[in-house]
Amino acid sequence: MNYPEHIWHNGHIKPWAEATVHVMAHGLHYGSSVFEGIRSYATPQGQAIFRLTEHLKRLYASAKIYDMAVPYDLDTLAQGCRDVIRANGLEKAYLRPIAYRGLGGFGLSAETPVDVAIAAWHMGPYLGPEVLETGIDACVSSWQRFAPNTIPAGAKAGGNYLNGQLVAREARRLGFGEGIALASTGLLSEGAGENLFLVFDGALHTTPVSAALLNGITRNSLMTLARDAGLDVVERDMPREYLYLCDELFMCGTAAEITPIRSVDGRPVGNGKPGPVTRRIQDLFFGLFDGATPDKHGWLEKV
Ligand code: PMP
Repeated sequence: MNYPEHIWHNGHIKPWAEATVHVMAHGLHYGSSVFEGIRSYATPQGQAIFRLTEHLKRLYASAKIYDMAVPYDLDTLAQGCRDVIRANGLEKAYLRPIAYRGLGGFGLSAETPVDVAIAAWHMGPYLGPEVLETGIDACVSSWQRFAPNTIPAGAKAGGNYLNGQLVAREARRLGFGEGIALASTGLLSEGAGENLFLVFDGALHTTPVSAALLNGITRNSLMTLARDAGLDVVERDMPREYLYLCDELFMCGTAAEITPIRSVDGRPVGNGKPGPVTRRIQDLFFGLFDGATPDKHGWLEKV
């Protein structure tokens, strides 16, 4: 990775190399961090951050779940996001705000200071350069998502991604592009870092938040865009075999954007190629950034 020059850390833009964490920081030992992944895009009206406010609200919600007091308000972090994009001269960016328990105690319930950083860098499609076109081959993971009332799936917290790493690394080791996890119920949950949509007879079916998943902002945006375009959207529990039986399947997330899935566990999805509903959803989503899809909901927030 080519590191960007600057980073926002505890209220200031600093050189990248100076934004360090102590080896005894609480967050490093116990996974006590909450974070966001946000993208900005170049639009005809200038660079815009996609649903910045919504992402920062989710950061505070994740912090609330873990009883972590973020020492900056939303406007300050929003400005920090804009400042770090500008400081690095990025035309479009992936932004990573993170709040973590720092140095100040070694007990699990220690009241350490909460430190905050915001990084911004250039990131292409998360699952590979051509995958938005070609799609990926996915597998169902042997690892399942955490059960309700164990680790809260609704928080985007560092520790959750131990589970995500098991799912993603197993999939890569077996030669797949991404892994899909089942919930503790055995029903479909989500990808290692993406939500799922299945298409049956032209309608979109997505797994409900009760299936131990992160309530994705891309998922929410696609549900809205699809309904605006007159498509049916259903949130429901689905069994594993629906992955093999649906007409089309795709993953979505800030990093993965809209990635078609062309096979699961070696079985082709539909005819093994990204289908028309997936293409339509990609067009609606990416159209937000070139002006083809009107920004009816005020999702583009100016840098
Ligand atoms: N699920 C998980 C586990 C994720 O890490 C992500 C990425 N943040 C998503 C779903 C998609 O969420 P979003 O669309 O808000 O990026």
